Amino acid sequence: MNQGSSKVRFINPPGDMSPGATTVHRAGWVIITPCQVIENGCVEVENGLIKDVYRASTRKNGGQNIIDHGPGVLMPALVNAHLHLELSALKNALSFDKGFAVWVQQLLEKREAAGDAVLVSAAQSAAKQLADQGVGYIGEISTLGLTRTIVQSLNLSGVWFQEFLGSDRPDTIIGKTRIGKTNSLSFSLAGHAPHTTDPLLLQAAKNETATRNLPFSIHLAESDAESQFLSGQKGQWTDFLMSRGIDTSSWPIGSKSPVQYLEGLGVLGSSTLAVHLLNIEPRDLDILVGTQTQICLCPRSNLNLHRRLPDIGKMLEKKLAPALGSDSLASCDSLSIFDEMTFIRGKYPNIDPAQVLSMATTNGARALGFDHLAGTLDKGKKSAFIYVDLNVRNKTDLIERVTTHET
Ligand SMILES: [Zn+2]
Repeated sequence: MNQGSSKVRFINPPGDMSPGATTVHRAGWVIITPCQVIENGCVEVENGLIKDVYRASTRKNGGQNIIDHGPGVLMPALVNAHLHLELSALKNALSFDKGFAVWVQQLLEKREAAGDAVLVSAAQSAAKQLADQGVGYIGEISTLGLTRTIVQSLNLSGVWFQEFLGSDRPDTIIGKTRIGKTNSLSFSLAGHAPHTTDPLLLQAAKNETATRNLPFSIHLAESDAESQFLSGQKGQWTDFLMSRGIDTSSWPIGSKSPVQYLEGLGVLGSSTLAVHLLNIEPRDLDILVGTQTQICLCPRSNLNLHRRLPDIGKMLEKKLAPALGSDSLASCDSLSIFDEMTFIRGKYPNIDPAQVLSMATTNGARALGFDHLAGTLDKGKKSAFIYVDLNVRNKTDLIERVTTHET
């Protein structure tokens, strides 16, 4: 969205914790959580944190600075829990209609041909647009390591994941990545997927992140090739790995779904963020619930690449709390989570709009390990919330409009 037609703006930049006088932000509506909404509300902020939230009519005259934003809504910044800024240069460059394997092949070739300078420049432009799209927290997956300095220099919040794949020895590569936490940005590790990454490497990366109290991310149950390979069917995928010098003879595959395979490796858990979950069996959902694994869905990307959508209704029935991601611009039109919500509302008309908004806010913050700072406008959270300019009649109308907002 360009600035001229901007209808979303940040109250404070996400990375801004600068001290300051108490300021009161008023608007027609305040969404504290998707189920807790105030009409004609105020959000009082001090030193970069939310100090109080209340109805404007109950405000005591305290001499604070008051900013009246208008009839729209003050609400939590959105969370894009899974994206690849690093692939932004490949927007509209790959075909979806020749199948996932061809898409992956094209991606590898075109990424190589683009070169680092082009990839960095496109990633930078895409990253700069995130604030205009209301995205305050990200889960960036970086295979080449090119976006680390971008998220740092733009003061983005969330988690930057260095992704691993293949069969390199864990001790030769994991130790080279500096991981840890700053105030609102973590640096952590991700495994690419169960069928592309040596199980020892997955376990080592998971253990390394767990000991540092950091999230670990992995694409899971996304493609048919992955399911077939892990269930023990020899085929194209085995040949492909062999052609790349990856020997899978010691991998514990056979008669397992991707979720069951990762459970067996001990890689699931409350600090693991499993992304996609398209090919799942009923038992898999119980495993994800039982292990308290965090989940993230990217339905727009799934439809483009796999002509299929995740069964969000079943996941919600099981009380799983999906976060949302856009995946990359190589498989999706935008990195906007407003766009992702709008898509979900269109494809899943039976899902409660408030639950869709939770996916984009509270669930995303929890999935990235930032629920103490983000996801709601509760007292003590960071003041990096957003204002969306709209006119609505009532709370139902408000949640309807916010979850179908076009950026
Ligand atoms: Zn991805």
